[in-house]
Amino acid sequence: MVLDSKELSLQVIYDNLVLNPQTTRGWGFSCLIRTSRESILFDTGAKGSILLGNMKAMEIDPRSIDLVVLSHYHGDHTGGMDGFLEKNRDVTVYIPASFSRGFTDRVLASGASVVPVTEAMEITHGCFSTGEMGKAVKEQALVLDTDKGLVIITGCAHPGFMEVVAHVRCISDKNIFLALGGFHLESRSRFEIEKVLGYFHRQDIRYVSPGHCTGPLAEEMFKLEFGSRYIPMGTGRVIRLSEFV
Ligand SMILES: [Zn+2]
Ligand SMILES: [Zn+2]
Repeated sequence: MVLDSKELSLQVIYDNLVLNPQTTRGWGFSCLIRTSRESILFDTGAKGSILLGNMKAMEIDPRSIDLVVLSHYHGDHTGGMDGFLEKNRDVTVYIPASFSRGFTDRVLASGASVVPVTEAMEITHGCFSTGEMGKAVKEQALVLDTDKGLVIITGCAHPGFMEVVAHVRCISDKNIFLALGGFHLESRSRFEIEKVLGYFHRQDIRYVSPGHCTGPLAEEMFKLEFGSRYIPMGTGRVIRLSEFV
């Protein structure tokens, strides 16, 4: 099923920067994806209190969330999980199969269901996981198949953004409409970031919304390169796909 972009929104709940002054910043990442059928929480940030506080400020009822997808085991993406499960345990949680047994058991003990992910899979209508990528830090990214093209959402992109896209290409060869999330370029040189930018061009990625671990230099370079196709990221940000052409 291809997702209708008119009914698709992305809400940034957790990030290092604040866009809506009613929300609080924190090191980590979390984004809510709303489709016509479901609400999917991608990552939970580091602290349950900030995650739930920002949800309240953004008028997101945690009980309205159906599915949770965790990108990788780092605490700045999974730390808010316990706090979230106290509000809503009626969810299915998709986690990389390499997560520790202890973490999985804790989620199961709350009453939530767990689906361990290894290979690329369709999580729900039009919404895919790349499957586990990388070696040192195993990570999954989310891919939405929309009528405007693919939307890629990354937690930290530890395996590198090029590797992420290589996995996305196993799912679909459609145009990439938007790439959003942490691009993990914080410690990279200007030269290395230019190489990544060149790759974004070759892949013809239309919009970018880098945040979290992308780093100030890379964010500045993306902003210069993409101009009006750069969507500033921060807590409280709501991206309605219908507003972008
Ligand atoms: Zn990480
Ligand atoms: Zn991170």
